[in-house]
Amino acid sequence: MISVISKLPQTGTTIFTTMSALANEHGAINLSQGFPDFECSPGLVELVNKAMRDGHNQYAPMAGLPALREQIALKTEKLYGGVYNPDTEITVTAGATQAIFTAISAVIHPNDEVIMFEPAYDCYAPAIKLMGGVVKSLELEPPNYRIAWDMVKRLINNKTKMIILNSPHNPTATILTKEDIGELSALIKNQDILILSDEVYEHLVFDGQEHQSMARYPELQQRSFIVSSFGKTFHATGWKMGYCLAPAYLMQEFRKIHQFLVFSVNTPLQHAIAEYLKDENTYLSLPGFFQEKRDYFRKGMENSRFTLLPCAGSYFQSATYEAITNEKDSDFAIRLTREIGVAAIPVSAFYRASTERRVLRFCFAKMQETIDKAVERLLTV
Ligand code: PMP
Ligand code: GLN
Repeated sequence: MISVISKLPQTGTTIFTTMSALANEHGAINLSQGFPDFECSPGLVELVNKAMRDGHNQYAPMAGLPALREQIALKTEKLYGGVYNPDTEITVTAGATQAIFTAISAVIHPNDEVIMFEPAYDCYAPAIKLMGGVVKSLELEPPNYRIAWDMVKRLINNKTKMIILNSPHNPTATILTKEDIGELSALIKNQDILILSDEVYEHLVFDGQEHQSMARYPELQQRSFIVSSFGKTFHATGWKMGYCLAPAYLMQEFRKIHQFLVFSVNTPLQHAIAEYLKDENTYLSLPGFFQEKRDYFRKGMENSRFTLLPCAGSYFQSATYEAITNEKDSDFAIRLTREIGVAAIPVSAFYRASTERRVLRFCFAKMQETIDKAVERLLTV
């Protein structure tokens, strides 16, 4: 064997891979990794087939199919008011993960500091570290996981290059409010700080609330990479299709990396999604659709011994379980999978340091009968 110095010596296999594998091994109902167990639209699948039959099977343009970038620009302006030039400010990516990695690698230099909030989605910190950046994180507290902006202020110094936001938030299901935006704007007003805004659950905001996209606020928009995911939006996580929005000066740097990381992404899917997006109902119907699932899951769990935390957006429901056990969430998640037959994600996996907070995350993007079966089992705990 040739000796290799690991670039990520502390990193193991992701919790999503681990829990899904355990669920499969034990034949458990998998509410761990976030993906729907129902089909995506047959109409969308037909559009992909048609694009393939029509011969759209060679490389797409590096930044993405112009027709798709045009539709993304239209959607963004219609929903949030933010204007993006499809030629210079929108790039289609292989999922949000690639967009996040690309944005971080485009702008983070050794010793640059990046502020993020934990629990945090797992792909942010490794990308920062690989670029030689330094993660500065603020741990948020259940049940409400609100950001204490005065604490953020204390983390900012002249090395701070970026703040990573994620709303709706995975795993806590919180959303940024207008007040958060006000605090954020005031905090970074005269500072050279960029924002990476992970908005993959932009269409999954409940109870009539508004998604606070950075694209609503010109002063934030001009310093932000905004990332979204068609996998999440169109119930097709396996397609790995997403995009990044950023002002031209940032997108220029983003594309320098994108072109060597993937060059371009799946052509027939881009044709299909460009067509599908013309019907705004394909995404405007999502809050109602998922809110119903959230409410159905929460109602079912009402008489369980879990304590459900608030859920304002995303397709995740978190819960504490003091009444059941004082096991660590990582141990409890494994036992639930093996003995009860329901897999969930231990939220401690979203903190870099070990934590005593004991919270499980359940994905409710599931068919009613899946939710029924899972709830029936969870009520026995
Ligand atoms: N960010 C968050 C918060 C996520 O939950 C996910 C998982 N879908 C991603 C990014 C990655 O999205 P994609 O599957 O499009 O790479
Ligand atoms: N975003 C999904 C989740 O939070 C998982 C994606 C993945 O497996 N990397 O469960």
